[in-house]
Amino acid sequence: MYWEKDIETMDRDKLEAHQLARLKETLGNASKSPYYAKVFKDQGLDIQQINALEDVERLPLTTKDDLRQQWPYGFLACSKDEIVRMHSSSGTTGRAIVVFHTANDVDQWTNLVARSMYMTGMRKSDVFQNMMTYGLFTGGLGFHYGAEKLGALVIPASAGNSKRQIQLMMDFDTTYIHIIPSYALHLSAVFEEMKVDPRKDTKLKGAFVGAEPHSEKMRKIIEDFYGFKAYNSYGLSEMCGPGVAFECPHQTGMHVWEDNFLMEVIDPVSLKRVPDGEEGELVMTTLLRDGMPILRYRTRDLTRIIPGSCECGRTHRRIERIKGRSDDMIIIKGVNIFPVQIEKRLMDIPGVGTNYLIILEREGLNDTMLVKVEVQKDFFAGDLKQLENLRHRIVEELRSDILITPKVDLVGPDSLEKSEGKAVRVIDNRKD
Ligand code: AMP
Ligand code: ZN
Repeated sequence: MYWEKDIETMDRDKLEAHQLARLKETLGNASKSPYYAKVFKDQGLDIQQINALEDVERLPLTTKDDLRQQWPYGFLACSKDEIVRMHSSSGTTGRAIVVFHTANDVDQWTNLVARSMYMTGMRKSDVFQNMMTYGLFTGGLGFHYGAEKLGALVIPASAGNSKRQIQLMMDFDTTYIHIIPSYALHLSAVFEEMKVDPRKDTKLKGAFVGAEPHSEKMRKIIEDFYGFKAYNSYGLSEMCGPGVAFECPHQTGMHVWEDNFLMEVIDPVSLKRVPDGEEGELVMTTLLRDGMPILRYRTRDLTRIIPGSCECGRTHRRIERIKGRSDDMIIIKGVNIFPVQIEKRLMDIPGVGTNYLIILEREGLNDTMLVKVEVQKDFFAGDLKQLENLRHRIVEELRSDILITPKVDLVGPDSLEKSEGKAVRVIDNRKD
């Protein structure tokens, strides 16, 4: 049941003592990097004074912009000779940043991914099809090596080419897949087109879904269609990639691997820590990274720590499904809205299909929101009155939730553009 029982079920006291020891080592290591050496010096920060986990709040926060400005080597805490791998953030917002790993860093990361997969029930006898882009994006290689370490047969399918993906699943009896949730929905239409029923015609029993925010409802739709469990997988390149936090079979939030990461949740405005259980922005510090330690990284991801323990016996705390990024929050007419909020509503309405797009425009002084919503095949081919009722219902439901009256356009199934990577949910055409 556990990949590393001692670590996964370690008493909190012991786990926190381990974290503190690792934090101190990390600080010593970080001070070897040009960036942190300067920051510590400029701020007159004596790292010997950090003697408790709470003291971490005395350290400065690190942002994506800091990483960008230090591009490419400013955060390196070792010589370039020690580096064996480079990755890059997918750059959903702004220019991509780069992250470097030593051989030991790659081993640690690989182990975390293996631990995460094992936790869900995946074993050596399983066949794992990795449907994530291989390359600079961490989702490809990160999962690939984790699954190999676990001993499963890995099919490095990469993203795209939907029909071939389905064929591979059938030919090689794939049992687990790693897939972006928006792509899993898109693929369901291809299954239907090929007249393949994943519940009957494949051996699929689990999926790892992540890389982009998605609602509980979307997970349910995916699980119902494929007949497997979809485990939420959270990670970011700055910390390593996938394997930072993962769901256990109880699927009640994601366990953050606290032996490797120190987490805080802060108020994104005051930057002060919020009490456990309250929502805020996740801040992470690497604890076992040699090549490029990162302290108090502002992930921009909004979540909360789930109080209490998990029935699985793991002591590593859980975070709730990511609600969105503080930087993809839409502000329209003074109202803050997250795309996932809209998704949640849409997915509850019968007749709504699998994809949507939010377009923001400015007309004079007025901001408008258009939501393009794909409609299911039968509905779309149905009578116009029914379609108009559906459109009207969507407008009403969204208005009651987001307090803004959106325009809604219904479009045919599979008509909105698909991305092979993270889905694009918002197009903001408003000029500042
Ligand atoms: P990247 O470093 O390019 O892989 O992007 C990392 C970002 O992807 C995170 O900071 C999150 O915003 C997003 N992300 C990754 N996994 C998840 C997940 N399971 N749920 C929601 N967002 C996620
Ligand atoms: Zn658990």
